[in-house]
Amino acid sequence: MTTNESNTALGGRLETPSELAAGLLGGNRRALSRLISWSENDHKGFPEALNAFYPHTGRAWRIGITGPPGAGKSTLVNELALELRRQTEPQLDVGILAVDPSSPFTGGALLGDRIRMDELTADPGVYIRSMASRKSHGGMARAGVDACDVMDAFGIDRILIETVGVGQAEYDVMAACDTVIVVMCPGAGDGIQAMKAGILEVADVLVVNKSDLPGAERLLDDLTEAVHVRDRRATADGGWDVPVVPASAGRGQGAKEVLAAVVRHRARLEELGLEGVRNQKRTAQVRRIVEETIDKRLFARTEMGADIAAQLATGQNAYAVAEALLAQLGPGFDRPSNPSESPSSK
Ligand code: GDP
Repeated sequence: MTTNESNTALGGRLETPSELAAGLLGGNRRALSRLISWSENDHKGFPEALNAFYPHTGRAWRIGITGPPGAGKSTLVNELALELRRQTEPQLDVGILAVDPSSPFTGGALLGDRIRMDELTADPGVYIRSMASRKSHGGMARAGVDACDVMDAFGIDRILIETVGVGQAEYDVMAACDTVIVVMCPGAGDGIQAMKAGILEVADVLVVNKSDLPGAERLLDDLTEAVHVRDRRATADGGWDVPVVPASAGRGQGAKEVLAAVVRHRARLEELGLEGVRNQKRTAQVRRIVEETIDKRLFARTEMGADIAAQLATGQNAYAVAEALLAQLGPGFDRPSNPSESPSSK
């Protein structure tokens, strides 16, 4: 064993990508936290580390939790984590990832109430991490998915990923989860709002939280009806009937039933072939990476802004200038001669 290797085993040196990957796979929590930060900060060493630990991913079940602000997502996440830790055969390690906690809506109330959360933070089988959205939208989605891969390779069995809001970045993070829980609550027309925002489309399990409040039953009925008319032909789950589960997370009720629905959904995906389902979801990730990379490589060049301005100054329109830029990417990126071959018309 070299000095470096022995240091890594002791958790000493965690500087290089390979040291961090080895530390992560060896159960070093500092390596876990550091790699998530690397991804978040777009550190140049992250891809190399990912290559090293990626073969060890795939065991964790990734559970996304989304829904409108105030529905009780954080409270439910706490309850789900506590319930998962109560299950003893086998004992499961739990990761909690809160994406975009810097949102002005959540502020300090992140991750539910303090006392319940203290119970989780004191538990060595629970890893809690929040990610700020300092980066661009695409960057946040990427970092969220990367963080799940890091936790997965570390050996965490269940990852709860909470996102606030329903923007594109949150949607992208949810699209990479195995099971997506959408949390609603009665009042303020939340159900209708969510349906308009297309939030039902991403739901594998719907939770009507705050079932102790008036209007909960009505919402439960409305949502049950709505999911039954949902067009499921194009979904990866091939006709999964989205269950609508009532809960009162604030009173510690419903987490067990929500988890039971997650287990049923998992069984359904396994029946269909988990690898195929996951690859289908990963396709969206690959596409996002390609888009981000093109954007970065094309526009990172410092003279780009001046180039565009110069071409516009010659009187060319925006489409013509854009086409000239695309042509620089190489053969096949210039405008197809036959408009029916245009990628957007497919
Ligand atoms: P988030 O914004 O979706 O994460 O929502 P929070 O978990 O922060 O909860 C928003 C508010 O709803 C908090 O004041 C919670 O205490 C409250 N809350 C959460 N669950 C319940 C519940 O089951 N019943 C009631 N009445 N209130 C709840």
